[in-house]
This record gives sequence, C-alpha cells and structure tokens, in this order.
Amino acid sequence: MVIAERKPIEEIRAMLDGHKRVLLLGCQECVTVCMAGGSKEVALLASALRMVEPDKEFMESTVERQCEREYLEEARGAAEGCDLILSMGCGAGAGFASDIIEGIQVVPALNTKSIGVVDEPGSWVERCMACGECMLHLTGGLCPIALCSKSLLNGPCGGSQGGMCEVDQENVKCGWQLIHDRLKSLGREDLLEEIRPPKDWSAAHDGGPRRVVREDAMA
Ligand code: SF4
Ligand code: SF4
Repeated sequence: MVIAERKPIEEIRAMLDGHKRVLLLGCQECVTVCMAGGSKEVALLASALRMVEPDKEFMESTVERQCEREYLEEARGAAEGCDLILSMGCGAGAGFASDIIEGIQVVPALNTKSIGVVDEPGSWVERCMACGECMLHLTGGLCPIALCSKSLLNGPCGGSQGGMCEVDQENVKCGWQLIHDRLKSLGREDLLEEIRPPKDWSAAHDGGPRRVVREDAMA
C-alpha cells in the first residue's frame, strides 16, 4: 500500500489563502488504511479548519479511489462551486485529480511517504521502492533497495555494527543483516555467495515515468 501522513495544519492553511470554498477530497483505499485521508480524516480536518478559518466554507467528499478516472469524474459534482480542492489522496491521486477535475486548483493535504506495510497497529513501514525488477527471490523476501539505507545489492557495508545501520545506530536496523539472518534461517546462505551485478536502474524511476500496459485489460 501507499503510506502517507497529513501535513501540519499550518502548512495546509497557507495553501488555502485567497480561497473561499474548499472541497476536502478523501480516498477510500491506502490512505484510509494508514489513517491519513479516509472519510474519518476528511471529517476531522474539515472540523479543525472550520474552527480556525471561519470565513471559508469547507465541503467534504471521499471517493473510492483517487487514482482512477471514473471515481474522479464522480467527484466533479462535489467540487462544483468550489475554488480549491484539498486532496487527501496520495501524491498520485492528488495529481490525477488535478488532471481530471479541470479548472479547479488541487493542492495536497498529505505527504506521501512510501510503499509499505502495517507492521503493527499504528505503525507503517516502507518495504518496496518500486525498482521495476524485483529481486526478493534472491534476498529471502527482504528488499535491499528499501531496507538498506544505501540500497546496496551486495551487503552489508562496513558500517553495519551489532545489526544496526551506520546512518542511525539507535533506530535503523541494517537491512543486509536482516537479509543474512533470513537466508540463514531458510538454509539459503548459498545466495549470499553470488555477487549481484549493478542493477539496470532504467527499469526504476531513473528511466522516466513508468507505464504498465495490459492489452487484454484495455477497453
Ligand atoms: S526489489 Fe524492487 S520491486 Fe522488489 S521489493 Fe525491492 S524495490 Fe520493490
Ligand atoms: S549498515 Fe547495513 S543498512 Fe546501513 S548502509 Fe550498510 S549495509 Fe545498508
């Protein structure tokens, strides 16, 4: 899932300057799960803004998914008469809302953080950086791109100490130590003996915005 968190209210208020009628637009998918932009968070932010911005009008709507055209087209009606949309979707959703709902500026209420998982209640952690060529079969299911601070393909580096990463020895576990431990527990230490060649980063974002096309799914 995409993990996001709400921007500080003062940053959001600064984006409202000069606007009178604002639609808060939530999304029922990932940002609902990470408790950043679902209908409940839309209602909470709208209430907070009504208190601190009494001269403005705040409308509320939450669509199924902000990353899909048909749901954003439905949101057009809710946006009628508004002069600003405060998107509570991820960056992709907010950007797509700006494409589809023409003529109304869309601003982001969230900071989009990562692709990750709910590792325990109230805690979301990054697990994938969408590199375009997954290698989890070589690393015991643990992603070296996301879990190693340097995204090393062969690790650990000399900064790994006591299972912790040199970038923050208090809080950041060494991703490669985790990979070693996992492969050992799986009896696949042989995978550590192969040197991984440099990755083709053109399959990642470095090759420009990526598109996946499935002709069998096209209308
Ligand atoms: S190897 Fe690439 S696709 Fe696989 S989990 Fe890591 S970043 Fe994501
Ligand atoms: S200490 Fe571990 S996680 Fe940190 S950069 Fe080195 S290999 Fe990566």
